This record gives sequence, C-alpha cells and structure tokens, in this order.
Amino acid sequence: MTILSAEPGGIYIHVPFCVRKCAYCDFYSNTDLSLIPSFLDALCREIRRADAPPGLAFDTLYLGGGTPSVLAPDQIGHILEAVRGRFAVRPDPEVTLEANPGTVTPGTLAAFRRMGVNRINIGVQSFSEAGLRFLGRIHTAEEARLAVRWAREAGFENIGLDLIYGLPKQTEGDWIADMAAAAALAPHHLSCYMLTYEAGTPLTRRMAEGRFRPLSEDRVGGLFLTTIRFLAEKGYAQYEVSNFACSAEKRARHNRKYWSFAPYLGFGPSAHSFIPPERRWNIASLEEYLAFSAAGKPAVAGREVLSYAQQIIEVVFLGLRQNDGIRISDFEEGFGLGFEETFGGVLSELRKNGWLKTDDASRCALTPSGMLFLDGITSMFVSMDFPESPPM
Ligand code: SF4
Repeated sequence: MTILSAEPGGIYIHVPFCVRKCAYCDFYSNTDLSLIPSFLDALCREIRRADAPPGLAFDTLYLGGGTPSVLAPDQIGHILEAVRGRFAVRPDPEVTLEANPGTVTPGTLAAFRRMGVNRINIGVQSFSEAGLRFLGRIHTAEEARLAVRWAREAGFENIGLDLIYGLPKQTEGDWIADMAAAAALAPHHLSCYMLTYEAGTPLTRRMAEGRFRPLSEDRVGGLFLTTIRFLAEKGYAQYEVSNFACSAEKRARHNRKYWSFAPYLGFGPSAHSFIPPERRWNIASLEEYLAFSAAGKPAVAGREVLSYAQQIIEVVFLGLRQNDGIRISDFEEGFGLGFEETFGGVLSELRKNGWLKTDDASRCALTPSGMLFLDGITSMFVSMDFPESPPM
C-alpha cells in the first residue's frame, strides 16, 4: 500500500556550480565553471533517457543548486527545452530559478524571464555585511537589493528571498533588522533558515577550533518564534517551518511537493527522485556523473523502496513541518490505520505541552512552540511500533 498523492509531479534540476563555496554549505557543487558545457550535455542526455510513470504530468520545474544563475540564459533555455521535449508539462507550470546576487544582471534576469522562468528565488542570506562575510557569501547587501530590483524590472511577479538566522552573537534586534530589510523589498516569498553546522564544512571546522561560539539553542529558538511573529506583522504567513508567503498562491508549489509526498524526478549530480514508494539519488560528484553519462549508464548512487512503516514515518515527519499539518482522513485512508488509535499516547502528551493545534480536528498540526521541537516530536511518533504491512 502506498499513500499516493493525487498531485502532478515536479522536476528538479541540480546545477552543480558555484562561483565559490560558502563557508556553511554542504550542498554538492563545483567551482570549475569550465565544466558547464560538458555538464549540460550529460544533463540533457539524462533527461532524454528518463522515463516518468505512465500518465504522470508535471506542473513544476525547479532549477536549484549550486547556483543556476551562473548559467547563461540560453543554457537555461536549453535545459527547459529538454524537459519539455521529454515530459508532459502542464500548461502554466511554476518554473523556479535559484539565483545569487553577484551572478545576475538586468539583462540576464530579463532573458531568464523570456525563457519561461516565472519564479526567482534569490539567495540573500543576510543584509548585514559582517553576516555575509561570516557566511562566506560572494556578494554585498547592496548587490542583493539590486538583484531584487532588477528581477522585478525584468517582469518577475513571484520573487522569493532566502535568509539565514542564528549567526553567532546575533541579537533579536539584528535579526529583526535583517527581516525588515527583506520585507522592505516586498518579495512574495521568504525562506528563513536556521544556521546549521554541517559536518565537513569550513564553518564547522572553525567552530571546532574554537574560533567562535555558536548561538545557544535557546536564543536560536527565540529567533524562530520572533520570525513567525515579525513576518506575520509584515503580511507573510508561515506555511512550513522555514517558509513564509504573502498569499496562498505565492507558496512554493514545487517545494510543497516534497512535503506532501508527491512524486518528483531529479536530474544532475546529487539530485533525488521520488516516485512513491521508491526514492533514488544520483552520484554527488560531477566528474563521476560525467563519466557515467559518457559510458551511457545512469548516474544513480542508490535507491530505496520505502516500506509501509517508513512511509508512515515520512508522512508524519513531512506533515508536521507544515502549518496545515497532516490531514487525518488522508492518513487513515492511505494507511488503513486510525490516527487517534495509533498515536493517542503521543497526541495527549503533545496536547499537554501546548504543542498541538486544537482548532481543527480534521488535521494534526503543531503550534509554533511545537515546531521548535519538531525533531523530538517526530522521534516520539517514529519510536512507535508500526506494522510492516497494512492491517487486513
Ligand atoms: S551559493 Fe548556495 S549552493 Fe553555492 S556554496 Fe553558497 S550556499 Fe552553497
């Protein structure tokens, strides 16, 4: 049994190039931009050889990375053409391009728009010059402001900004100033991520060497709650732990597929695909990706068929990330299990702590303070014994 989403699918393209690696980043990317033409050949080959499940149409395309805006507009156009030539893309798809300030001009942004990109997500991360330097970003705050202005002038009516909070010594006032600077540019969407220290990054090494002290968990938690409150006052409603939109239709259609268990295909090094119940992922190395492509082999590094119990865990974890939570009737129909009967013990514990919303009995959703403990709460759900197959 699989809890199948009735939604159309999404297509993700991983563009594995960056001008320079940021100190905190553990996404796969390469700084040798001379490999772009070989990558594009391999990518288009991968797309042409791929199959989608029969009848599955797609309504989102997401070019992420990496820094897709290091590609020339005609290279982006070439990728979009390859996708449209291979898959059934619905009319009016959401086509997102991740862009970094310092890699775009008014001309490239206008050309991306002409190629069919209709949503741009700009990696600003901070409006503080010290913050940008700490994170190892290539751009200034002024370049970020310019990128947003040029995107609007280029005709983008769906502009998202990414910000990071929880930097060492960051005060609530610093973070509010950052969010206010972002809101002053009137983007349609904001993603606000807590700074995390990923294994193997320069930032994590510097922290281990004692060169700075991370902000305490309590202070970071406080900033999380400040984010929700402050952005609500500015007209941005939270709809997922880290995501805020000025209206329901400006929520990221593509990213919502990841959280709602919808199918997606990923192309490029390190890209993941999910056709329920199977997940598979590509090799996270451009060199190996190119070698596999030249040998006519798929660059798949691994695959996993989610068991019934794993699907329950995923649906719970992904559902609880969203403000709308888990729709109980979908869960019960999909898994053949009563929600309250299965999770009653955990649910009463959550209610006792004020972590569960109580205004809509058809859904199981966390309050803002519950979201602060998302990992711990998910473990409470996950630690239960699920049957390996649906009850008869
Ligand atoms: S630009 Fe983005 S993908 Fe590239 S290193 Fe920085 S954070 Fe990572």
